[in-house]
Amino acid sequence: MLSTEHARTQVRGIGVSPGRAAGPVAQLAGAIPAPDAADRLPAEADVEAAAAQVAEHATKVADTLNASAAAAHGEAAEILATTAQMAADPTLVTAAQAKVRDERKTPALAVWEAANGVADQLSALGGYMAERARDVRDVRDRIVAGLQGLPMPGIPQLEEPFVLVALDLAPADTALLDPARVRAIVTAEGGPTSHTAILARSLGIPAVVGAAGAVETLEDGRLVLVDGAAGTAVLDPSPEEVAAAEALAAQVRTFDGHGRTSDGHHVQLLANVGEPAGAAKAAEAGAEGVGLFRTEFCFLDRAEEPSIAEQVKEYRKVLSAFPGKKVVVRTLDAGADKPMPFLTDTAEPNPALGVRGLRTSWRNPRILDHQLIAIAEAASAESAEVWVMAPMVATVEDAEDFVAACAKHGLETAGVMVEVPSAALMSGPILARAAFASIGTNDLTQYTMAADRLLGSLASLSDSFQPAVLRMIDATCRGGDQQGRPVGVCGEAAADPAMAVVLVGLGVSSLSMSPRSLPDVAAVLAATSLERCRELAQLALGADSAEHARALVRGQLPVLDELGL
Ligand code: PEP
Ligand code: MG
Repeated sequence: MLSTEHARTQVRGIGVSPGRAAGPVAQLAGAIPAPDAADRLPAEADVEAAAAQVAEHATKVADTLNASAAAAHGEAAEILATTAQMAADPTLVTAAQAKVRDERKTPALAVWEAANGVADQLSALGGYMAERARDVRDVRDRIVAGLQGLPMPGIPQLEEPFVLVALDLAPADTALLDPARVRAIVTAEGGPTSHTAILARSLGIPAVVGAAGAVETLEDGRLVLVDGAAGTAVLDPSPEEVAAAEALAAQVRTFDGHGRTSDGHHVQLLANVGEPAGAAKAAEAGAEGVGLFRTEFCFLDRAEEPSIAEQVKEYRKVLSAFPGKKVVVRTLDAGADKPMPFLTDTAEPNPALGVRGLRTSWRNPRILDHQLIAIAEAASAESAEVWVMAPMVATVEDAEDFVAACAKHGLETAGVMVEVPSAALMSGPILARAAFASIGTNDLTQYTMAADRLLGSLASLSDSFQPAVLRMIDATCRGGDQQGRPVGVCGEAAADPAMAVVLVGLGVSSLSMSPRSLPDVAAVLAATSLERCRELAQLALGADSAEHARALVRGQLPVLDELGL
């Protein structure tokens, strides 16, 4: 959205990574133009040499991405390695070479068409697979740029730090972001759960996504001030505004390992962990434990289930980072945005509403059973306090079955994720069986609002400040209260300091988030009393739109502005 306030030009989007930063705009290197569909090799051309060029440039792209992956860490390294795999995939190269040999298409046109074919197939599959289509198009652009001698698409290589502006970022671009050079990011597309948002947050780069008009309005070289909490990018800020943003950025906040409100009410601040390296980072950041250990990393990109011994080894790596502390292990969440060929049916017309999460154990109880054996074995070898929870629980029976399966393996603290409206509304009876609930606000928002969490165009619905979502959370907390069971939150909402205040006010007793968000959430809670949290929660519950709820809460929390959140 474009607006001119007090004669100032600004674009507005969704703030997905807090912080304020100013710098000159640098737009992402221009898109690679589509080769002319009529391009053919001249009659005298060496067809085999042309076909060989396709393989040569694909290998170059894969090598460059692999080299970047080797120099990167964690999530960035994984994203780069995945994109490199796409470039090295023989399907794409073989299809393109066939077009060169059989149809005498130029190498660039052949790659362009072959990649589009693969990308269209992936898009048609939806969910996580559709996200991979972006990787294929990214690889396509890189190979075609190489073949045509064009500048490689991607992040501008500038000496001075800049604010990166783009229509959207490819995962491999995001993975190469250097926080020392990129002060902030503004994209016209993308939603709160896009790669851009997740990586910007994990790198601590202020970011605004879904800012329509950003590319047209924020011209190369113009000075812009980005507020990654408010979701704005203002052109030509005053020197005072720039100085204030720089002063804020210079403040380093840390977390002392004990979450509490200003009047001393303890709120456990935990970390979300997706792989063993993340556990070490979470412990260093002072997390009081792990509120969501996503075990999918062990299963993704596999042709079959990993062995029990392999699982034990991986789970122990995470548990050993938190001796004596709580670690909530979530059992496999396969399906929808996380398809696993050995377990899920990718031909389902609506994978998000299909056999996913705990439901996959109906037909394949052995996989859940093996995982519970592995978790129990890892738990007995380490001293962490292990809790176990199932994703996508929808009924009382689901909860009962899961608790019974856990008990069979001596896992006594068995809980449920509340991600489906039915579980939120039935939390009383569900928590009469389960030991705790952890609200997955990413999916709970998706299912409450009937809005695909991966679709940037539905970002305004994919907002946990939606009053209907707040009412679901409220209902879950009431169920927990009735049964004397703790209710936590482990979706992205927990990492938003303003939302954290509301959640605590609704009765949530633990918040689990990316380790980077811990200091910000801790600081805002420490400045707010429990009574105030409750008042603000009631204000938000009474609002009639997400925008209104957020504005009401933020307006009553001056600490957010003081801290640049
Ligand atoms: C959620 O849905 O909020 C959640 C934490 O699970 P995931 O993001 O892994 O689906
Ligand atoms: Mg979920």
